[in-house]
Amino acid sequence: MSMSVNAESIDIVGLRKQFKEKVALNDVTLSIQPGSFTVLLGPSGSGKTTLLRCLAGIERPSAGTISLSGREVAGPKTFVGPEKRNLSMVFQDYALWPHMTVKKNIAFPLANSSIERGSRDARVNDLLERVGIAHLADNYPNELSGGEQQRVALARALSSHVGLVLFDEPLSNLDADRRDLLRIEIATLTRESGATAVYITHDQAEAFALADRIGVLNKGELVQWASPEKIYRQPANAFVARFTGVAGEFPVEVASSHGEETISVKLPFAQGALLEATRIEDSHLGSAPHVFVRAAGVTLYPETHDAGLAGSVVDHAYTGRGYEHVVEIGEGRLLTKIYSTKRFERGSHVKVVLDPSQCFVMDV
Ligand code: ATP
Repeated sequence: MSMSVNAESIDIVGLRKQFKEKVALNDVTLSIQPGSFTVLLGPSGSGKTTLLRCLAGIERPSAGTISLSGREVAGPKTFVGPEKRNLSMVFQDYALWPHMTVKKNIAFPLANSSIERGSRDARVNDLLERVGIAHLADNYPNELSGGEQQRVALARALSSHVGLVLFDEPLSNLDADRRDLLRIEIATLTRESGATAVYITHDQAEAFALADRIGVLNKGELVQWASPEKIYRQPANAFVARFTGVAGEFPVEVASSHGEETISVKLPFAQGALLEATRIEDSHLGSAPHVFVRAAGVTLYPETHDAGLAGSVVDHAYTGRGYEHVVEIGEGRLLTKIYSTKRFERGSHVKVVLDPSQCFVMDV
């Protein structure tokens, strides 16, 4: 496929959207590099859809500005409609034209382009091959499975070589096994196309798998804007840590802090056992410090191991690759999803070793 997209850069400054009294987005500022893949991650009601709709030009911001490649498309005095924004969109419910064949759906955005008919057909055929539905070219959408329909929608979004593709939870109506496959195709084909991508989801695994950069939204605020690695290793606050997956969260007392990054904390519920942990930059430790533990930072050993916290196994689940354990440490405090290739029996005593770089201390 000949690639000649003008990937858009995006600059959002002080964006606010209010529906009557309800503030759906509050003072969101971020800059997105051309050709990058951004995922906006947040729970239901956090403002993801509203932000995507403002980018698309479906929703008009209450305040702030949006610029695409330096051109202001929404601001106090400007508003450029969706059809003039060099973008396409992939929706959760596919939104295909029911009266058009697969081929016609994909060719639709090219209908008014200056590209000659021969190369238009070649482009459509190439996309049909790439998304693996060439054999369905003459079928109608209602004859296709959900996964196949979403492949058509992806091909349609990429056919006109727009500089920005917006994805509105495109995988949420699909079964888990189809979801994984299509997610990989979305990532590969969109990156190959060269377009800038903005993708919204409430699924943190999807966000980590797809994104160059993740924007975490909570209650209309952008609470962190960083690489997946940074979000995993330095969550900006308790909400981000919880939303991106922790094995456990416990109240602690600060014992001593050495330098900027590490801190020693006491676990009052485990006879004051000491734990080395990571101090999150810029976070203030006041009255209610908690430690947040990532599952990948926990290793289980037999009881005879000389280091680690004493624990007992509450439950285990076979995952194919190995076993996930639930372990109680101290009085009634649980760590969940603790992986080991070896199975530790229910009720057995174990030692739990925590990696300080995967234990974060923050106020809640
Ligand atoms: P979901 O994952 O459930 O779609 P979301 O993160 O996309 O959630 P939004 O749909 O952007 O969240 O909604 C943010 C907030 O704004 C919600 O509280 C929602 O009820 C409110 N909201 C969104 N659209 C409107 C509207 N047209 N009128 C009134 N309130 C709205």
